[in-house]
Order: sequence, then structure tokens, then C-alpha cells
Amino acid sequence: MVHEGAALNRTEGRHRVVIIGSGFGGLQAAKSLKRSDVDVTLISKTTSHLFQPLLYQVATGILSEGEIAPTTRLVLRKQKNVRVMLGEVVAIDLAAKTVTSKLMAMQTVVPFDSLIVAAGAQQSYFGNDQFATFAPGMKTIDDALELRGRILGAFEAAEVATDHAERERRLTFVVVGGGPTGVELAGQIAELAERTLAGAFRTITPSECRVILVEGAGALIPPMGPKLGAIAQRRLEKLGVEIRLDSLVTNVDYTGVTVKHKEGDEERIDCACKVWSAGVQASPLGLMIAEQTDGTQTDRAGRVVVEPDLTVKGHPNVFVIGDLMSVPGVPGMAQGALQGAKYAAAVIKRSVAGRDDPANRAPFKYFDKGSMATVSRFSAVAQIGKVEFGGFIAWLAWLVLHLVYLVGYKNRFTTLINWFITFISHSRGQMAITSQMIYARLAMDMLANQHNRPAQQSALAAVEEAEKLERERGAQR
Ligand SMILES: Cc1cc2nc3c(=O)[nH]c(=O)nc-3n(C[C@H](O)[C@H](O)[C@H](O)COP(=O)(O)OP(=O)(O)OC[C@H]3O[C@@H](n4cnc5c(N)ncnc54)[C@H](O)[C@@H]3O)c2cc1C
Repeated sequence: MVHEGAALNRTEGRHRVVIIGSGFGGLQAAKSLKRSDVDVTLISKTTSHLFQPLLYQVATGILSEGEIAPTTRLVLRKQKNVRVMLGEVVAIDLAAKTVTSKLMAMQTVVPFDSLIVAAGAQQSYFGNDQFATFAPGMKTIDDALELRGRILGAFEAAEVATDHAERERRLTFVVVGGGPTGVELAGQIAELAERTLAGAFRTITPSECRVILVEGAGALIPPMGPKLGAIAQRRLEKLGVEIRLDSLVTNVDYTGVTVKHKEGDEERIDCACKVWSAGVQASPLGLMIAEQTDGTQTDRAGRVVVEPDLTVKGHPNVFVIGDLMSVPGVPGMAQGALQGAKYAAAVIKRSVAGRDDPANRAPFKYFDKGSMATVSRFSAVAQIGKVEFGGFIAWLAWLVLHLVYLVGYKNRFTTLINWFITFISHSRGQMAITSQMIYARLAMDMLANQHNRPAQQSALAAVEEAEKLERERGAQR
């Protein structure tokens, strides 16, 4: 079933902007076009705007998914020049100026005059996609809820296990990747065990669990430099986290992981719960676009090497922003996406007003506002310009900044309350887990596989198969 992109209430001849993605880049681009004489269609494969930096708090029971992922169409409901569409973009035709998206069996083709692609990145297993079955990443709400299920489920299984080795395996947690996400997650699993779960079990002592953080480089949080890496390491070690630096995970299976150290020796760690936060791979839409241009390249992570005005060669109306763009000196962080989105929207506004000269556009300039990572309760590391610091002040700065950037007053308020509960008392508000959290992804992958749909790539593909099954059952009754 193919639909022409429904142009609801569109003014004839008005400039049409299509935005792909509802993350930091996509949402900001739509907001920046608020007062413009354009029709915007925002297409995303998720219904929400996800604040990824706080995903680890959903995984460890501090926040609910709703607090960090408001519904995009509700965020934009007052902005009348935007239409929000759920769907996975499966094709972009730069020559025909169309974007094709799919939602279950429905396919929609939307024409554009300007295109902003902000499809972000996904987890990379460096060619070992089979690891994903045993070690979920941390990119989506599904990932975070699955991890919450796996982390809390591991303690439950350990309480029931009678075999000593199996109990130890259940109580061993391995986090792969010592970047900000890995550090935050390792610290939170340790605190969850030490504070929140203390006294709640009868046959196990949660604080006796092992949390092991494996990092390939010689220091934690490599982009923030050795000084901050060392501060994070000291703090984590104080919490009892075991840190393996200069170590690569070479295998992941149901029973555990294999780690290869710099010296060449291998270590086998039996563990039930593994988390992968080691690498990113840009959305395949990047390559799809680059291949249609005369010479635009993608880098090793699949990001598009854009022109100084964030467009692709020969297409001054096609912008690639955020984690999908490759610009020297711009890290894959929220600020890069937000600033890129504002820049692209400003160019489009000038173009609509007839004041744009594509050959003489001022290049995109990134303003580095610094970076931060929390390590544990009351402790973070921060880098602002040349200033590097860690500890309580950095943690307070982190807290304020994340509140400011969360979307929606209600979300900020409830997040603040949840933080207060978690950091001051021993409890956490979001400790519920369901079997669907843990096993639904496996079931969906199997469903997608059964029908030769690419596993891992599209939850919506599995949804389509599930809907088909439901329809068939309905017909049998
Ligand atoms: C766990 C984690 C922690 C992080 N912590 C920090 C931090 O502390 N500070 C910081 O600055 N940055 C942090 N980042 C990085 C930051 O979140 C990203 O740089 C930022 O989200 C990039 O924005 P984006 O718009 O490019 O992509 P995203 O925010 O990833 O959005 C991509 C959007 O595209 C949609 N999409 C993808 N493919 C398709 C398709 N085919 N069809 C339709 N829609 C599609 C997705 O559904 C999503 O809405 C973190 C990232 C992660 C994963």
C-alpha cells in the first residue's frame, strides 16, 4: 500500500522541509523552523524524543522512560507548520527529492524542497552482531528497559540459584566500554547493589556482586583525557568496580565474555548480565545519501563527510546533521546535533526569504560547551574548555545542565523529585520489571528472521509481522 505523502493543510507552493529523526538534531531543527513560512514533515521511527544521556538511569531504576522520552507530536502540537509522522525511512531519492518511509504494511512517499537528515547512530559491535543477543547496547528505550530487566532479573535468579558457581555467574555484571555511558552504568549498578537492594534478599548479599568494566584504551572516558579518566577510575574502584584497561572483549556468549589483555593473555569471565557500550555505527541512511552524490564520502563509522555548510556535494538543499555528520572537531554529542540543527534551519529560512547564496554560505561553526559524565552519587567529572575538574561541584553542574536540557517542565519536575528520592534516600522509584522487557527483543528478532526481515535493524518490521499474525488469527475465528 503506497501513499503519497499526505500534505495536510499545505499551502500550494510553500517550501517543503522534510526532517528525518526526532532526536536532538531533528526536534531542534523543527523547533527552529517555527516562525518560518515552510511546511515541515518530521519522520521518525520512534514516537518520542529521546534524551539519551539519561538512558542509564532508566536502566538502573531511577527514572521512568516517559521522563526522558516525551512524545514528539505532543511536544510539537502547538507548532502548526509541523506534521509528525511515525515510520522508518527506507529510501531517500535525492534526484526525485522524495523520502519513502514504512509503517507496518503502509508505505509513504513524501516530497521535499529541503531535507534535514538527523538519523543518528546505532550501537556497533565491530562486525560481531551476534554479541547483541547476549549484550544489549544502550541506544533506545527498549535497550534501557531490557537492561533494567536483565540487571534486576540477575539478582532474582541469584537468590534462587542453589549451585554456587551459577549464583556467582548471576551476580557478575560486565560492562563493555569505558566511555561516559559505561562509567555511568557501572557506577549505578554498584550503587544499586550497595544501597537500594541492601537487605532485600535472604540467600544473597547484593553488595557482594562483581561489576567489571572493560575498556580497550589505557584510561577511562578516553575523550576527556587521562586526568579525568583517573578520577573516574578512583571513584569507581572505591565503589568496588573492577576495571580492566587495555583490554578487548573478543567473545560474548550466553555464559559470559572472553577478554584479551594487552599482554596477550585471555581471561574468561562467567557472567549473566552483560552490557555493550563500546562503539557506534552511523545510520545506514548516511551511506544511502552519499552514494547518490558526486563524491561525498562516509567515514569508518558510516558518518557523512559533509561540506562546510553541512550539505552533501551537489545538493545545497540536503543537510546531514548530528551523529550522522562527520565534521572535524565536532564530537558525537548533543551540542553538535543542536547547533547543526539551528544552522541548517537558519540556512533554509534565508533560502525561503531569497537571501541565500549556496556558493557563499558562511560555514558551520561549532562552539564547544564542554562535556561531563557522572560516576556515582555526588561525583562527576567535567571538562569546560581547558578546565578539568571532578567531584561534587562537577556533579551539581551535571545535575543542573541535564535538567535544563530535558524537554518539558513536567518532566523536569518529576525527574528532580526522582533524583531527590534516589540520591538522598536508599530507594529508587522505577524498579518494576516484566518478562517482556527481557525477552521481547529476542522474540521480535525471531519473528523478523522467520520472515527474512533483517534482525536488529527494524523493530517496525517485526511489528508488521506481529500485526499480520494478529490479523490472521482474527480471520480464523
Ligand atoms: C547512552 C548515551 C549517553 C549519552 N550521553 C551524552 C551526554 O552525556 N552528553 C552529550 O552531549 N551527548 C551524549 N550522548 C550523545 C547524544 O545523545 C547524541 O550525540 C545525540 O543524541 C545525537 O543527536 P541526533 O539527533 O544526531 O541523533 P539521535 O538523538 O540519536 O536521534 C536519531 C533519530 O533518528 C531516528 N531514526 C533513525 N533512523 C531512522 C530511520 N531510518 N527512519 C526514521 N527515523 C530514524 C531515531 O528514531 C531518532 O529519533 C549520549 C548518547 C548515548 C547513546
